[in-house]
Amino acid sequence: MVPLLKIAVEGCGHGSLDIIYSALEKSCESKGWKLLDLDFLIICGDFQAVRNERDLNCMSVPSWHRKIGDFHSYYSGEKKAPVLTLVVGGNHEASSYLSELHHGGWLAPNIYYLGTVGILRYGPLRIVGLSGIYHSTDYTKPRQERLPYDKNEIRSIYHVRECDISKVLQLRSPIDIGISHDWPRRVEWFGDHKILFARRPHFLESVRDDRFGSAPAEQIMNHLRPKYWFSGHMHIKFTAKVQHKDNVDDILKDLEVPNELQAHIPKSMFSAPFRGDSQTRPPNVTNTVTNFLGLDKPGPHRDFLEVQEVTSCSYSEEDSAKPWMERTPEGRFTLHYDEEWLSILRSSDGGATTAYEPPEISLGDSEVSDTSAASRSLDWVQANITAKGLLRIPENFEKHAPVYDPNDQTNAKDQPDEFPNTQTEAFCTMLQIRNGFSVGEGDDEGSDNLVFG
Ligand SMILES: [Zn+2]
Repeated sequence: MVPLLKIAVEGCGHGSLDIIYSALEKSCESKGWKLLDLDFLIICGDFQAVRNERDLNCMSVPSWHRKIGDFHSYYSGEKKAPVLTLVVGGNHEASSYLSELHHGGWLAPNIYYLGTVGILRYGPLRIVGLSGIYHSTDYTKPRQERLPYDKNEIRSIYHVRECDISKVLQLRSPIDIGISHDWPRRVEWFGDHKILFARRPHFLESVRDDRFGSAPAEQIMNHLRPKYWFSGHMHIKFTAKVQHKDNVDDILKDLEVPNELQAHIPKSMFSAPFRGDSQTRPPNVTNTVTNFLGLDKPGPHRDFLEVQEVTSCSYSEEDSAKPWMERTPEGRFTLHYDEEWLSILRSSDGGATTAYEPPEISLGDSEVSDTSAASRSLDWVQANITAKGLLRIPENFEKHAPVYDPNDQTNAKDQPDEFPNTQTEAFCTMLQIRNGFSVGEGDDEGSDNLVFG
């Protein structure tokens, strides 16, 4: 029997954790649940992990909109998140802090960031998180922004990169939950788009040009076909049931798009690349419907929070004895690394190159030697991480930056220093990959600027 899990989903965080957690308590009450019944809360970006005033100078918002928010109280230890909180990044972030945790890590006790891209396990659930937003001009660029950011880097740093997405597309096993800040492109056609466009007429202009939503998120959704997908960014609640079918001719028939909107459907939507290619899709990805939920930002009369029960489509009986299925004495699952994801990161060595290189492992099925390289990497992970009991994510949060002090305005107008994060260091050491984020790596004369790819 696959257990049902109780989760909560929130749209954009916007630095308002106090509002979110108190609303969460009420949402649980309305279901007859207690806060403690929840397995975790997901926040779909614009989290704003601002530790102090200097972090605000790394956030891509006009200075008059920069607010310290309440995350710093959770960072300092004054408050603690009452429920395990999983976070992806958006386009309004303290990028100085998120970039320290490129591979993911604890932003504060009980608040876990999934990284630039990341895969996690929590009991029977396998979760993929995608941070940032899609911007076509930066997509193929290497990831080389370092502090202090100039006026271009402060934006480009949160743009999704092909070098990260290509790693996710190497996954060969199913996923249950996808999270992205911007909506996967074209999900709007699978929900009540008539009401959506009536409430937000300007959305239709981008839809018409096929610029609405994230193409890489769409690609991942169609490749891995998770049971659920959650997003923020558009500041409106929207639900859709994305149908995955190999026969693209069947899709238009099922969409029930009214005549007046038919002309706006992008033709490319019905081509095979959009639907995923049955030749390259992992054979054990069998789910056919993704339940999409987009939510608003916190505020009065806004639909920003939803609590619901979810189940797994990736779980099989042979998983029952796996480490990520172990419960604590209180009967709770805990966060674990994902073996397949670790093996992909290891085989790409963390992507620590300045130039984008196509992934070694092709999505095609004829790459026998690449497949054996992937399986050698998985063997290494199982022998050196799983067998040694290292798959459970350690609770190794440490404060590196000064805690916010409203009375101390020293250097408040500057960007912060780089703080080499001990969690990233521990992760790279465990996986024996290069750590692209360490002070001085980029400053050595004669060496390439070592960055995460
Ligand atoms: Zn937002």
